[in-house]
Amino acid sequence: MKILVINAGSSSLKYQLFDMDTESVMAKGLCERIGIDGHLKHTPLVGDKPVFNEDINLPTHSEAIAAVIDKLTSAEYGVVSSMSEIDAVGHRVVHGGEYFSSSVVINDEVMKGIAACNPFAPLHNPANITGIEACTAVMGKNVPQVAVFDTAFHQTIPAKAFTYAIPYEYYEKDKVRRYGFHGTSHRYVAGRAAEMMGKPAEELKLISCHMGNGSSICAVMGGKSVDTSMGFTPLVGLPMGTRCGQMDMGAVQFIMHKYNIDIDEMLNILNKKSGVLGVSGVSSDFRDLEAAMEKGNERAGLALDLFHYWVAKTVGGYVAAMNGVDGIIFTAGVGENSAETRKAICEYLTYLGCEVDDAANAQRGKEIFINTPDSRVKLMVIPTNEELVIARDTKALIG
Ligand code: ADP
Repeated sequence: MKILVINAGSSSLKYQLFDMDTESVMAKGLCERIGIDGHLKHTPLVGDKPVFNEDINLPTHSEAIAAVIDKLTSAEYGVVSSMSEIDAVGHRVVHGGEYFSSSVVINDEVMKGIAACNPFAPLHNPANITGIEACTAVMGKNVPQVAVFDTAFHQTIPAKAFTYAIPYEYYEKDKVRRYGFHGTSHRYVAGRAAEMMGKPAEELKLISCHMGNGSSICAVMGGKSVDTSMGFTPLVGLPMGTRCGQMDMGAVQFIMHKYNIDIDEMLNILNKKSGVLGVSGVSSDFRDLEAAMEKGNERAGLALDLFHYWVAKTVGGYVAAMNGVDGIIFTAGVGENSAETRKAICEYLTYLGCEVDDAANAQRGKEIFINTPDSRVKLMVIPTNEELVIARDTKALIG
């Protein structure tokens, strides 16, 4: 069975074609600048086919999907002989609101549900819908499509953790609440952690730290998300590459009044100019910050300290939420690659009995325990794989 996984953004579209018999990626690629001019990078991963990396005209997502199918099936760059070999398409959809607590086969009713969540994720959901419609237009209605939601895993979070302490009618009438994101990643790494630990997920208390450009932490008890750091939007929780994380609205109002900034501009500042970029003035990339700190840049050092501190205190909060923890997982760009970040966070957690094995922590790019044999809590690096989860869910649903 071959499954195409699509992650459609407003002007970009990432894809991977999976051979689900071996769970291997046959080809992957990225369409960029859709609706502006257009560029496609297509990388075949089976056979000896060359990479295609050129500007091509992509006025809409439909032309982008058509270009992807064309490359996947072409004699020169292709990995399948015709479109009919693609059995199904799995889509990443950012927001499923309270409508979707698991992945679903897409039909007209599901499309209405996704559209109903557009106001919650105005930049992402409409782009995801465009990606689904483009696939239908190019591949026809007979190829089944599945939606896998970033928010779905967190639908098990109890009311005490998802309710905002504001007048209750905003939840009752408008569904304003904590939703959480990165659910596909947290679900995948928590599942892998249980396998690595050789225990049923039902018996484990895990904390998953997804640390990339965007970062969130998730408390997973008995295989279910019970709390997570992002909220109604992905802006809050930890300070991130460019996002502010937890913030006092009163301070936001003070800045807006003092500098005559309207709400859209303020949110742009909090989303794109804040986080470790805002504090350091150097970069949102943790590699740049670590290099700047080594050269003596104090604000880069402060930005990193602040990030480690927030991760550690959020982990501490989730230990309280679950009344214990068996394993802590590090994943995504920073979590998988920065030994310094992992070490600095774990230094706050020695009270829990977390002890890092420095030699194991220095390894990269693979699933590994980084705790010492005496550590009371298992510490794990687990590379995330959201695309594989989307392909697996799609396969399971179209059965
Ligand atoms: P996204 O949230 O966009 O999916 P990723 O999970 O790919 O992001 O993470 C990207 C981030 O990972 C980069 O901004 C960079 O800060 C960080 N990163 C990647 N490699 C390293 C490294 N070797 N050391 C520290 N940070 C790294």
